[in-house]
Amino acid sequence: MSKSYDVVVIGAGPAGYIAAIRAAQHGKTVACIDEWKNRDGKHAFGGTCLNAGCIPSKAMLESSELFHRARHEFKKHGIKTGEVELDIAVMQKRRATIVRQLTGGIAGLLKANKVDGLIGHGKLLPGKQVEFTPVAGSVEIINAGNVILASGSSPIELSIAPFDGDKIVDSWSALEFDEVPRRLGVVGAGVIGLELGSVWSRLGSEVTVLEAMEDFLFMADRDVAKVAAKDYKQQGLDIKLGAKVSATKTGKNGIEVTYEDKDGPQSIEVDKLVVAVGRKPHTDGLFADEAGIQLDERGFIVVDDECRTRVKGVYAVGDCVRGPMLAHKGSEEGVMAADLIAGEIAELNYNVIPSVIYTAPEIAWVGKTEAEVQQSGRAYKTGSFPFAASGRAKAMEQTSGMVKIISSKDDDEILGVHIVGPMAGELISEAVLAMEFSASTEDIQRTIHAHPSLAEAVHEASLAVDNKALNFPNK
Ligand code: FAD
Ligand code: NAD
Repeated sequence: MSKSYDVVVIGAGPAGYIAAIRAAQHGKTVACIDEWKNRDGKHAFGGTCLNAGCIPSKAMLESSELFHRARHEFKKHGIKTGEVELDIAVMQKRRATIVRQLTGGIAGLLKANKVDGLIGHGKLLPGKQVEFTPVAGSVEIINAGNVILASGSSPIELSIAPFDGDKIVDSWSALEFDEVPRRLGVVGAGVIGLELGSVWSRLGSEVTVLEAMEDFLFMADRDVAKVAAKDYKQQGLDIKLGAKVSATKTGKNGIEVTYEDKDGPQSIEVDKLVVAVGRKPHTDGLFADEAGIQLDERGFIVVDDECRTRVKGVYAVGDCVRGPMLAHKGSEEGVMAADLIAGEIAELNYNVIPSVIYTAPEIAWVGKTEAEVQQSGRAYKTGSFPFAASGRAKAMEQTSGMVKIISSKDDDEILGVHIVGPMAGELISEAVLAMEFSASTEDIQRTIHAHPSLAEAVHEASLAVDNKALNFPNK
């Protein structure tokens, strides 16, 4: 007899496992099917985020930043260390341990919530049936009351630079190098290119980043991009803009990468090349043709604002549907889908999704950039406050960057907050909450911020919007 569940989730990344847990919290019987395989051939829950993305990259960013600071910053604090040396094997072991602990934690969470974690491939069939092919054993057909597709994404490969698992690699392999490449090339100055470029540059690689666009960090506010470009340059990241890679040739001495920029054809030689030109939705073998699921022209599963596909009772969430490819966006969609299945009212405010780039300085923003507000035609005002004027940032020796707030001229509603500087990824939460509550800058102005804290920079930037900053001259 075939099994039945109220909800079957396909994929156990941050979108899928969160959806499964929330559905179980609603009292539903739930199965979560996942086929992720790590490099050791073993399965682990958590998808890209925990195994190959958010978590291992943050572990390596933290370790490499500490290494860099110990070598270059401790002196300023009057701390003598002798020669600071790198033990890459220990650093990598630490990364792997963090990943193992967290992915194991998800297996525990599924169990604690009485979700059946099924290891293998899931495929949606017509009539809300799911074909489950376990790693070992025979194929089963599962009947589902509702299905949530959360199959994630995979890296885009360039035909002129195909992944070979050794010299030309994707971000996952680039997180697991067992030695520091002397010369590292990165194609794409997006989030991955900048984070991974920073990791290996701090650990000693000569890093060249080739970016096809002329504008640096085109998705960020221009004032933020300017500060970041200057800081990355100072750190030794060589970012070449308007550089279109046209060919790669792997030889004895490394990889020759040919690219074209405004000065014509150029080439560089590197020991490893990371291709980080974006990710694409992963839907291979996810549904039968007759299941009724529709893909858009870029391969994303078509859903409405509430993550419903065209098939009644089938939802899709996370990287496999439209919107930014971010773990927190996927998780909140998972919660929304599970709440809707349980008959609750649920919605997601897609205008207030924070973005963070975990480099040093960190970059974080929410809402519209100044250029976007300008384009919208809405009258606006801005205020900013530099970390150079923050006592806490000075004490931390991290004074680069600023907080910038954009609000509507008519009603003072906050339209966008942009931060480049220490702990930007933490500071942005205040702005997200403010925007979620449709707050004005006056609301932040009248909120007490602890002293001395980095958050005071958010407070001062809100005051600066009305030329009332107290610890920095106004415009
Ligand atoms: P995934 O995490 O990709 O999980 C999908 C799961 O479904 C996988 O386990 C897959 O094996 C499984 N699956 C797919 N199809 C099937 C099937 N048919 N049957 C069974 N199982 C299936 N985002 C952030 O918000 N912050 C960050 O700091 C951040 N850092 C990143 C760093 C890197 C290097 C990378 C690559 C990504 C990073 N991201 C970050 C993006 C983030 O990882 C993704 O947005 C997130 O993982 C998407 O979650 P998901 O659940 O939709 O998909
Ligand atoms: P991305 O879209 O952020 O950046 C890709 C970059 O590559 C772009 O700047 C693009 O112009 C450039 N590019 C594209 N084709 C090129 C070519 N042929 N030659 C040179 N440059 C080229 O993509 P990514 O950095 O690969 O990251 C993938 C996804 O993972 C993103 O959607 C991101 O949101 C997510 N991610 C998030 C975080 C985070 O939240 N901190 C970290 C890593 C990844």
